[in-house]
Amino acid sequence: MQILICGGAGFIGSAFIRNYLENHNDSQITNLDILTIGSNLENLKEIEQNQNYNFIKDDIRNEIKINELVKNSDVIINFAAESHVDRSIANPKPFIETNILGTYSILESIRKYDKQFIHVSTDEIYGDAYEQHSFDENSQINPNNPYAATKAAADHLVTSYYKTYGINCITTRCTNNFGPHQFPEKLMPKAIIRSIKNLKVPLYGDGSQIRSWIYVYDHVQAIESLILNGKPGHVYNITAYEEITNKTVVEKILDILEKSYDMIEYVEDRPGHDKRYSIDSSKIENQIGWKAKYKFDDAIKQTVNWYLQNQSWWEPLIDEKTLHPQPWTLSWK
Ligand code: NAD
Repeated sequence: MQILICGGAGFIGSAFIRNYLENHNDSQITNLDILTIGSNLENLKEIEQNQNYNFIKDDIRNEIKINELVKNSDVIINFAAESHVDRSIANPKPFIETNILGTYSILESIRKYDKQFIHVSTDEIYGDAYEQHSFDENSQINPNNPYAATKAAADHLVTSYYKTYGINCITTRCTNNFGPHQFPEKLMPKAIIRSIKNLKVPLYGDGSQIRSWIYVYDHVQAIESLILNGKPGHVYNITAYEEITNKTVVEKILDILEKSYDMIEYVEDRPGHDKRYSIDSSKIENQIGWKAKYKFDDAIKQTVNWYLQNQSWWEPLIDEKTLHPQPWTLSWK
């Protein structure tokens, strides 16, 4: 099988590639990535010499290149996105360009060459689940920040291309991922790295926001299971049902690193901050047979240990902006 991965140099896409190539030697993966801030080719160091893998530095909005690659692929998986909510608050434009126009560019090619397309979306498009039950795939889409709004727009485009042109597409909506190789500006790596460096760990508001966490290797397994078994035109939620407040996440990290909770610093809340994300993934569990395997408490220990043992991976990536308590305040106010 020929697989085209868009955005495979980032956190989740690189985990998919490493995991897939470890378990399959009969498939060829091409990874197209423009290498923005959250990407890192070091994530793929262990497989860069693998004969079944090649990398192309390019933009998903380059329609000529996308056409050439889609034509020669069986499956296209789109991980490419501007992905950091704080950055979308500071400057939404790149999010509109990549998340909406980039998805459009791939969709046009899928329509032309009739290939299988898996679009990686997010639970953030459902918006705040505060005091409501969990969202399923038929729940209303209600995004509250520019990142989520651009991802929601892309979701709608994918669905519209299925309904209008009958393309062979699947959309996944996963909860918050964590694990090795996540860029230092996201909550968990930022908390780990700042704790290791004995810097205060910032928490937005009172830290009571609830996120549903999933280990990244569970997410990539779910996507892999959909290549063979997913139904065209369908949306699949993906969660490990580990709903935890941001405060508890940081406290667990401090416990593992044997640091005091006094290191937590409560900072002004993020604008438009959703209180709770919560989804139900019984559809993929019952219809496809996928279920999350990793327990949060085990996986967070593995993750903290990975950052402890791989300081040479993250040291070159950290600067004032990535470790700043509120990156959006640098240009938002
Ligand atoms: P990431 O920022 O680590 O990776 C995104 C990758 O896309 C980067 O390598 C970047 O260089 C690439 N990219 C950006 N713009 C591009 C363009 N125009 N052309 C080609 N490549 C481009 O993000 P991630 O956390 O790995 O997320 C991957 C996908 O999963 C995103 O679509 C995100 O919305 C979705 N998602 C993420 C999470 C999460 O918790 N991280 C949860 C659910 C869904």
